[in-house]
Amino acid sequence: MSEIMSFFRSYFARNNLRLTRPRVLILEWITQRRDHFTAEDLVRWAILNRVGISRATIYRTLSLLTKYKLIARRDFSSTHSHYELIFNNKDHEHMICLECDRIYEFQNDEIERLLLREAQRRRFQSHFHNIKIYGLCHDCQNKREVDFSN
Ligand SMILES: [Zn+2]
Ligand SMILES: [Zn+2]
Repeated sequence: MSEIMSFFRSYFARNNLRLTRPRVLILEWITQRRDHFTAEDLVRWAILNRVGISRATIYRTLSLLTKYKLIARRDFSSTHSHYELIFNNKDHEHMICLECDRIYEFQNDEIERLLLREAQRRRFQSHFHNIKIYGLCHDCQNKREVDFSN
């Protein structure tokens, strides 16, 4: 068993949660993926690979994992939520392309310091933050330029 899966196993035991077969399979999928995914990505994987996990189980498992802070729900889009593994994952910000829906992560110490300073100035106890930049990624900008020249 991988290190991360044995972590999940003891974490589930500590919290009196049953590590059922669907939960193991979903956790393995999320861990291997290591990026932002939607519930429907998981549903598609379950159907394609005939793993025998229903859509309802997937949605229930995702909200359980969110509740226990193993994954985080990110509302990048108004129509669907993305999730990502947050266990062992450093604080990071996101850029979201409005054209292709791709999500880019970045991390900047200067921004971290700036936010901390703002919070301290207002005696605000900061727990987490999440900066989102919406726009067009480099690939999509290039595609637009090609379209315009036609
Ligand atoms: Zn794009
Ligand atoms: Zn992220």
